[in-house]
Amino acid sequence: MRPNYTLPRIYLDQPLSGEIDLSREHAHYFGTVLRKNVGDSIRIFNGRDGEWSAVIVGKTRKAMRVSMVAALRPPTRVPDIRLLFAPIRKNRFATVIEKATELGVRTMQPVLTKRTQFPNVNLNKARMQIIEAAEQTERLDLPDIRTPMPLDAALKTDRTIIFADEAGGACVVGAVSALKLPVDVLIGPEGGFTVEEREAVRGKAGSVAVSLGPRILRADTAAVGLLMIAQSTIGDCRQAWLQQS
Ligand code: SAH
Repeated sequence: MRPNYTLPRIYLDQPLSGEIDLSREHAHYFGTVLRKNVGDSIRIFNGRDGEWSAVIVGKTRKAMRVSMVAALRPPTRVPDIRLLFAPIRKNRFATVIEKATELGVRTMQPVLTKRTQFPNVNLNKARMQIIEAAEQTERLDLPDIRTPMPLDAALKTDRTIIFADEAGGACVVGAVSALKLPVDVLIGPEGGFTVEEREAVRGKAGSVAVSLGPRILRADTAAVGLLMIAQSTIGDCRQAWLQQS
C-alpha cells in the first residue's frame, strides 16, 4: 500500500522527467540533514503525475542533482470534500490547514462570517504549510486553498453542505452516512455563527446541520472531528476498508 515509504519524499512543482537540480533548501535537507549521497534514492511527487523514485547523481555542499528513475504510484485524488471554514487566529489556522491536508480534503475555502476576527489569510504561507503536511502524509495531490469569500457567496453552491452547528443538529454519523460525495464541510469561527447565518445555512437546500456532541469544541477540533467522520463514512477511509474486506 505504501511502497518504499521509508525513502524521504518531497513535493516539486515541475514535470518529473530526466535530471532535476534541486533547490538549495532541498539539497541541504537531503545532503546535510539526512546525509544522503550520490547513489541514494529519494521520492518526488508533483501533485499531478503520481509518485516517482529518483537517484542522486550529483552532490556539492549547496547543490544536488537527481535523475528520475521510475513511477512508484499512479496519480490518485482524494475524495471531493471541500472544507469551508472561517479564518481563526494564526496558530490555530495553521492547525486546520495541516490537519485538513492530512485528513484528505480536496479544497479549502476560507469563508468570512460576521464574527470572523482574523479575515486576513496569508495564502502563500498556507500553501507552504500544505506542502509540508502533504509531504509527510503520503498523499499524492495537494489540496487547493482559495481566496477567502463571504459566507453568503460560499452558500451559492449546489453541493451538499454538512454544517457543524454548535446550537444542535442531527446525530452526525447517521446524517453524514446518508450523504454522497461531493460534500462541503462548514465550520464556524471562534465566536460561532450569528442567528441569521445559522438560519441562512439551515435554510439552504442541500444543507445538513449536525451536532458534534454536547460540548462546544474549538473550531480546529470541530474541523478535525467532522472531517474524520466524513472520511470514515463516505470518504476514502471507508473505501480503503471496503477494498480490504
Ligand atoms: N463561541 C461559540 C462556539 C464556536 S465553536 C459558542 O459558544 O456557541 C466554533 C465552531 O466549531 C462552531 O461554529 C461550529 O461550526 C463548530 N462546533 C463547535 N462545537 C460544536 C458542536 N458541539 N457541534 C457542532 N459544531 C460545533
